[in-house]
Amino acid sequence: MAAFSSLTDRLSSAFRHLRSKGRLTDADIDGTIREIRRALLDADVALEVVRPFTARIRERALGEEVSQALNPAQQVVRIVNEELTTILGAGVDRPLNVAKNPPTVIMLAGLQGAGKTTLAGKLGYWLRDAGHTPILVAADLQRPNAVTQLQVVGERAGVPVYAPQKGVQSDGGEAVASPGMTSGDPVAVARDAVELARTKLYDTVIIDTAGRLGVDEDLMRQARDIRDAVHPDEILFVIDAMIGQDAVRTAEAFDKGVDFTGVVLSKLDGDARGGAALSVASVTGKPILFASTGEGLKDFEVFHPDRMASRILD
Ligand code: GDP
Repeated sequence: MAAFSSLTDRLSSAFRHLRSKGRLTDADIDGTIREIRRALLDADVALEVVRPFTARIRERALGEEVSQALNPAQQVVRIVNEELTTILGAGVDRPLNVAKNPPTVIMLAGLQGAGKTTLAGKLGYWLRDAGHTPILVAADLQRPNAVTQLQVVGERAGVPVYAPQKGVQSDGGEAVASPGMTSGDPVAVARDAVELARTKLYDTVIIDTAGRLGVDEDLMRQARDIRDAVHPDEILFVIDAMIGQDAVRTAEAFDKGVDFTGVVLSKLDGDARGGAALSVASVTGKPILFASTGEGLKDFEVFHPDRMASRILD
């Protein structure tokens, strides 16, 4: 995974030093843990995550587990793999929530540029491919281009888009009616869209909301108002893996602001340090449900903590 390639290199170099040793001394283990710690911090993993992570590895590695092991280096790798899986959300991972009575309502939240609109298209495409009937909703009325951008995304994904002004709805075929729609009010747009989905039998409503460049109270209030109007089954917080050390603060602000139910890591294809995103699950205790890995509709995958840990340690 590009966003973690330098972390992967650094960790494998830390383990390489162990491989030449038959038996590990405490000093060997401490040296390796120092390297792991430096690699994680350099990759922007938050200190509050790194500290307990390395403490657990040290405790397990210095305990019976490794000293008795036939192959100590492999044992250390296994411990790191298990602990990495834990910080990526093992135990809280689960599939997407689905409503008992359709439509399932999914609301997207996050900073501007995080990848929400792109994700709306990917999710819609993925659901459609699985036999669902999703509809995308343009409730980002802050940015002039946001509605048009969602329509372009919907067109590409072959998924209808519910938009706030008459004449701008598109569904890649059949028109989506919007009688009585209140132009300019994202809460009304979201509410109307859910109602439309109920009557027209769209089984999933994906609501794109406004993002700002920084966390701001107006944005949070608007997102909360939309949430309280439509009671989403899932509120997905989309976070750009390249955001760096701001990841934890941003995630905490959105957690407090909208109490999101799941996380989507985006731009994992980037070549900068993506480690900050690794902190989000463990800091918020919320599961990472999806990973976005490019600008294309198919650059998207269901997130599995164990598989991601293995890829990082590959
Ligand atoms: P929004 O403001 O949260 O709706 O963000 P957008 O969906 O408009 O995305 C912002 C920019 O990031 C756009 O240029 C997207 O093409 C790009 N983008 C979104 N997701 C990804 C991703 O996973 N990888 C890469 N490389 N670019 C992405």
